[in-house]
Amino acid sequence: MKRVLQEFANATGLVINYGKTTFLSIGVENDHANYLASLLDMTPSSFPQPYLGLPLTPYKFTTSDFFPLIDSCDRYLAGWKASLLNRAGRLVLCSSVLNFLPLHYMSAMQVPRSVLKTIDGRRRAFFWTGEDKCHGSKCLVAWEDVCKSKQEGGLGLKKLETQNHCLLMKFVDKILDNTPDPWKAWFGRDNVLAPASLSSNGSYLGRIITEELDHFRSCTSVALGDGSTTSFWFDCWLHDTPLCTLYPALFSHVLGPDVSVQFVLQRDFDLHLRPRLTTAAAGELTSLMQIISQVQVSETPDERWLRSTTLAFSSRGAYAILSNTVATDDNGQRIWKTKVPNKVKIFAWLFFKNRLSTRENLHRKHVQPEATCCRCNAASESWRHIFIQCPFVAGLWQRLGINMDGVIETKDVWSVDTPSSLCGELWEDVVLTLLWLLWESRNGHVFRQERLCVRVLLSKAADDLKIWRSRFPIQSRIGVDGWRSFLVMCNYISAAASSLDAI
Ligand SMILES: [Zn+2]
Repeated sequence: MKRVLQEFANATGLVINYGKTTFLSIGVENDHANYLASLLDMTPSSFPQPYLGLPLTPYKFTTSDFFPLIDSCDRYLAGWKASLLNRAGRLVLCSSVLNFLPLHYMSAMQVPRSVLKTIDGRRRAFFWTGEDKCHGSKCLVAWEDVCKSKQEGGLGLKKLETQNHCLLMKFVDKILDNTPDPWKAWFGRDNVLAPASLSSNGSYLGRIITEELDHFRSCTSVALGDGSTTSFWFDCWLHDTPLCTLYPALFSHVLGPDVSVQFVLQRDFDLHLRPRLTTAAAGELTSLMQIISQVQVSETPDERWLRSTTLAFSSRGAYAILSNTVATDDNGQRIWKTKVPNKVKIFAWLFFKNRLSTRENLHRKHVQPEATCCRCNAASESWRHIFIQCPFVAGLWQRLGINMDGVIETKDVWSVDTPSSLCGELWEDVVLTLLWLLWESRNGHVFRQERLCVRVLLSKAADDLKIWRSRFPIQSRIGVDGWRSFLVMCNYISAAASSLDAI
């Protein structure tokens, strides 16, 4: 064998480095394998072997084969002083890096649910605490809600299991598209319409394609060509719903459902039905035959689009369809539209869900023995008390001339009346800035014994708007300046009033 390898090296110039080559054996006793490896000057090794960053093995994958993936997440997290980052920074790392570390694995193999759960645990702990583990009480919002899109009230992190399915669906898309790749001929493209025969070929790829076929069909529709790669019953080719769902009674009489449209239409509408149809099935058959009689197949190949679009299949598009993103969270849509920094947006996200660690919320979770506000000692420290009712805060709104009495629920802050001379469209940005500073001042009081006065807070708000001004589109910047001047002016009045008070 060594001579063959040497001849290969002489012929091609590709010299084999035996020091870096491992010897893998299948079905050979260990002693004998070691002896053979020593003859070839190679290191004996065992499966799974890392190959192009993935575990390579002729056996079924076990959870331990995915430990390198979990280790890579741990190694990455250890490199960051995550506790020094704020949540906005950790969210960026979570969505950009921790989401992408498993991508290479997920686009080639079905990662076991337990492994995805472990990675999710790391992501969750990293986001909420910056640690590699965290107790459920420190997670302020359920992880499945965090993983919803921003329009649905989440933070837009990807659901790993859905993402794994979408990446693997690319194999189904590749085998059904019209490029004449040799591997498709070997694999048996026609088998795709008959998943049972596909899974029986025993290959790992066959199993993946069989398992992803239903997902793939649920998020694509077919523009009919010759009908050869379109499943008569399971693809959406005639309507937005597959025929097996539209004609359930008739479908229950079908003997061989894995047939292509071409197969059915070329054989005078041969559906392989059981004899003696029920009345419902007979009715459905008549109605289906009427529709089918008008269908014409052409010579061109079938074309497949993402459902309800004319876009070619992509994992990202499939993810959007499978996660069924519907804009349901008005607060979320308003928050993510503003131009304030992400740290303020994440604070606002928690504020509108009433998940901030106020004393009232902590008391409810049995973390704090007392729920009373530590600034005024007069009432329970709810979100409404911190941001509207506490005497210090009420003074601030009074100085601004903004009436917050009508704010009963968090969402009411969007619709309070603001001075008509100022740009109302920017209120969302301004109110988030003020709420954020109020929360900061509350935390300063609780944790650092800082005593902030209204004037300092208003001047901070004006300063923040000045720093964030460049984040706004040019046409909005005059409006931002207007709000800034207003805050400074209120401060001036405040100073004049307090000096008058002093007199
Ligand atoms: Zn108070």
